[in-house]
Formats: sequence, C-alpha cells, structure tokens
Amino acid sequence: MKNIAQIVVNEGCSVKNAFEILNKTGKRILLLVDNEGCFQRTVTDGDIRRLLINFNSLESTLKSLEPQKSIVVNKKHTDSEILELMIDNEIGEIPIVDKANKPIDIYFRSELQPYISLSLPHMSGNELEFVEEAFDTNWIAPVGPNVDGFENEFSNYVDNHFSVALSCGTAAIHLALRILNIKSGDIVLCSSFSFVASANPILYEHAIPVFIDSEPKTWNMSPVALEKALESYSLKGNKPKAIVVAHLYGQSADMEKIINLSKIYDVPIIEDAAESLGSLHKGKHTGTFGDFGVFSFNGNKIITTSGGGMLISKNKDFIDKAKFLSTQAKDSAPYYEHSELGFNYRMSNILAGIGRGQLKILDQRVRERRDIFQFYRENLNYDFLDWMPEPKGDFSSRWLSAVSLNPKNTEITPTFLIKEILKRANIELRHVWKPLHRQPLFKGADYFSHSEESFCDFIFQTSVCLPSTSSMDDEQKKYVVSNMKKILT
Ligand SMILES: *Cc1c(COP(=O)(O)O)cnc(C)c1O
Repeated sequence: MKNIAQIVVNEGCSVKNAFEILNKTGKRILLLVDNEGCFQRTVTDGDIRRLLINFNSLESTLKSLEPQKSIVVNKKHTDSEILELMIDNEIGEIPIVDKANKPIDIYFRSELQPYISLSLPHMSGNELEFVEEAFDTNWIAPVGPNVDGFENEFSNYVDNHFSVALSCGTAAIHLALRILNIKSGDIVLCSSFSFVASANPILYEHAIPVFIDSEPKTWNMSPVALEKALESYSLKGNKPKAIVVAHLYGQSADMEKIINLSKIYDVPIIEDAAESLGSLHKGKHTGTFGDFGVFSFNGNKIITTSGGGMLISKNKDFIDKAKFLSTQAKDSAPYYEHSELGFNYRMSNILAGIGRGQLKILDQRVRERRDIFQFYRENLNYDFLDWMPEPKGDFSSRWLSAVSLNPKNTEITPTFLIKEILKRANIELRHVWKPLHRQPLFKGADYFSHSEESFCDFIFQTSVCLPSTSSMDDEQKKYVVSNMKKILT
C-alpha cells in the first residue's frame, strides 16, 4: 500500500496549495475528500488550471470545482483488469476506496505499464571514466585530450583521415556549406525525405534548396531524380553548388550512382550520415564517399554525447578550416584578431569523453538495433507490411526500424496505428520524416520526383518507425509485437 495521505485534500485546500502538493509529489493527481474523509472525486493538474482560467484566484479553494464522478474500485484487481478500465476511460489513475468510501490506495498507469520510447540513450559505463578524467585534470573546455582522442578514434572507426568534433550535426552541415563557399542565391540539391536539419543550413546561407525524391530500392535519394535536377539546372546555366544526401534510419543511399553523377556534373557532395553511423555501403562506411560526411550524437541517435556532431573529410584543408571556423575564426595573432566570420560550434571536452566511451560499444549497438529489426520482421510477418529495404551489398545499422503499411492491402494508416498503440499500450511509434518539399518552411521550393508519382510522399503516407532503443529487453520487444498484432489484425 502506498502512502496516499500526501495526495488527499479536502475542499478547503487552496489552488496554490494544490499546485504545491502536485509539484512536491510529482504525481499528477489529488484525491478530494469531504469532512468525514469520504472520497469525492479526483483532481488533476488540468482541473486546477481550468479553475484558475475561470476567473478564480490562487487563494480560491477546491470548493469551486464542479462535482464529477471519478472511477474508483473497492478492492484489489489484477493489473490487466485495471489497465483495461484505464484504457477504456482514458485515465491514468484509479483510487481504491474501503467500505466507508475512504481512499486507501491508488493505481497509477505509469507503474502498471511503463512507457516504451522510440529511441533512448544507452550508456555502456565506459563514458564516466573519460568524463572523470576531464574533471580530474580540469579540462572543462571546448578543447582538450578527449576532443583530440574522440576525433582520432572516430577517424579510425570510419576509415577516413580527418574529423572535427562539433556541438551538433546541424553545425557540421552548416560548416560544410561554408567551406564549399555556398553563397546567397546558390542552388543546393537536398534529399526531400529527411529531417529538417538536412536543409536548414542551406537557408542559413540564404542559398536555395531544391528537393530530390527517394527511390523504392533504398527509400533514400533517387539517382534518377537527382540526374533530372542536375540536368535541368545546368541547362539553365545555374549549376547546383552542392548535393546534401541523407542516409535515413541507417540505410545508405545508392552512393555509386550518386557519386558518379556528382563527378559528371562536377558538384560536391555532403553526406548527411547523422542516422547511419555504423552502416556500410559496399563495405565502406556511409559518410566517407562524398567531400564531407556529417554525423550526429544527439540523444536519440545510435550513440550519443547528449548533443554533438562530427564533420569528416579526406581533405585535411577542409577539416582545418572547419576547426578554425568552429572556434570563432581567430587569426594567428598574439591578440584577438578576426578577419572572417566564425561560429562557436566546437564540442566540449566533457562531451567528447562521453563520445569516446560510446564509440567503444558502437558495433554492439548496431548488432542490437539490427536484432530488434529482425525480431519485428520475423514476428510481424504480414503481407501488407513492407519493411525498409536493405539492398545486397549494404549493411544498415537499422537505427530505427521502419515499415510501410501497404494501402492496397490494409486500411490501417500510420496516424491510426500511432494513436491506438499509445492509447492502449503506452508504446511510442512515430511517423517517418515528412518530406521537406511539403514543409511550410520550404513552401515554393523546386522538387524533382523519382517517377510520375512522388515516392517519398507515398512512404510518408504509409510508414511508421517502431521502438528501436538498443537497451530494450526481450520482454519489451515481445510486448511491442503483441500489441502491434492486436491492432493490425
Ligand atoms: C539528427 C539529424 C540531424 C541533426 O543532427 P543534430 O546533432 O541534432 O544537429 C541531421 N540530419 C538528420 C537526418 C538527422 O536525423
């Protein structure tokens, strides 16, 4: 039995006091009782907010609340009985009352049914050693041995020569565009099927994003659409200045064809590999094909530094320039002198320590994420599910497990599935990225589709991402599968 006394209040309790209790207990609920201690109703933080909105002051009391019939039980029930009652009534708490109608205990949904997130950080334990060392040596700065170490170890891992650790992946894309000398009004081709961060830096530079469709083979940039765009703009005498190609959910784009086109048209490539660290294409790491590779260590990515990014290149001058620009572009003078516009984009020595610890277990995280994908695919073996492909010769990290619901064979839509599984099972599914050419932010941008029908629009309308946290245990995976089955069949 829980100590519920702290959440029991009577109608003399002021709004201010009620807020204080909610704040202190961290529970989102109060139990209102009468002078005899008999249960009247539950009071949520929302109920109190509505009281305030209706012209009540902080000093007014809960007496102003309308009576309401709250669901209670008068004995212990099984967890599944209680859960069913909560789900049917869309509530998160059910009090237990005794024969005299006095509250004696309470069920919280969050305790019966833990929330399963899409993608959570997963520490290995090695990280603290590096962070402690930074503390011990007082390297609490955006430079230091962990930054150098992380960069070297990262370069080794991806088999590329030079790396610079930055505050985030978006900053890495921005610096790549600066170094490629992208100017106001320049055309930059970009994957439409991606997160907004792929294209935002194009706008930072007042350049013009032009979006490229995906192809069914990889769900990533279509070489066919890319060629159309390169040809069309080159014919107009407005040659694109860069290509930003994303490798989504761990799957590489068709880099042979894309690199080939970039050579023919002489347009440099920035690979947005923020979601594909640990993934291979024809045996080589994604991010190492183009002029630049970009990675992210945001909290939801396959490894994380809480927030961070890496820019890599085979070209040492590029990375030296990125180091210079990311630390406020300070000239080599004995005082503070600046001839160029710089940024404060460097990664801190503390966060680089977390990155070093995470890098050690990256391959294991890739195996774990691939196992999750495999488990879903084997256990949700329905003809109306088309799993994100992995063409021969590719090795996807399966950062997120993504699947398309074929509308020819099922009426279930992503929106319905996402809503139902959250409501019934407290499981977080998400839509795949909404194509960037459909975003209000990029309204009016030019777009080149793979064929008559836009493929990334189709993927957006039909697909979802499933929980893919590498620390999920077997029971959690089975729980996701069984709840998916209930809704899908
Ligand atoms: C996460 C992500 C980014 C941005 O990385 P941050 O480190 O969050 O700035 C860029 N592109 C894609 C495709 C991403 O998923």
